[in-house]
Amino acid sequence: MQQTGLSPDFTFLERVEAAGPFHATECFQCRKCTNGCPASFAMDLFPDQVIRLALLGQKQEVLSSQTIWVCAACETCSTRCPNGVRIAELMDHLKEMAVKEGVPSPQPQVLALHQSFLENVRLTGRVFEGALLPVFLLRSGQMRSKIEKGTWRDEARLGWKLLRKKRLSLLPTVIKGRGEISAILRPSK
Ligand code: SF4
Ligand code: SF4
Repeated sequence: MQQTGLSPDFTFLERVEAAGPFHATECFQCRKCTNGCPASFAMDLFPDQVIRLALLGQKQEVLSSQTIWVCAACETCSTRCPNGVRIAELMDHLKEMAVKEGVPSPQPQVLALHQSFLENVRLTGRVFEGALLPVFLLRSGQMRSKIEKGTWRDEARLGWKLLRKKRLSLLPTVIKGRGEISAILRPSK
């Protein structure tokens, strides 16, 4: 059944925890996570509120929040939590869940970067910077606006400088365990 308004989805927490466990039920709302979060200024729900809403089965509110996309995965919250709630990993999982369930991201640029990065690492087993930025710019629509404004030249100049200093390669280096990395990052059904 489609969840509407604030009606709770009682299977939400169970499904989330099955992918962890993230130990969300251990949360006693002390807010240590939120007080240490460097990205909280840009969030619409604070990390402790995400946990609380997940416990209350408010799937739609959690999956459509800015917070899960704004989270920088810095792990400060997880380190500060006195109860071992794995908040940073939970945020990451909620992003994947939102994508899988077709919930539009309120931060399309972050979604574009997230997808470009994962595809990039799946390909070679490590980040290949030579492809990451162009793919991200194309996917996010920024390439078009850069061409229209002429600012693509700044990117090209920077790329050339990095190439000359051998800080950027035009060819990817495939690592030995590429298959294993790809398997880990393959989207689950
Ligand atoms: S620090 Fe841990 S226990 Fe405290 S509010 Fe955050 S998740 Fe809950
Ligand atoms: S991992 Fe995300 S939620 Fe946790 S402190 Fe860092 S930015 Fe905030």
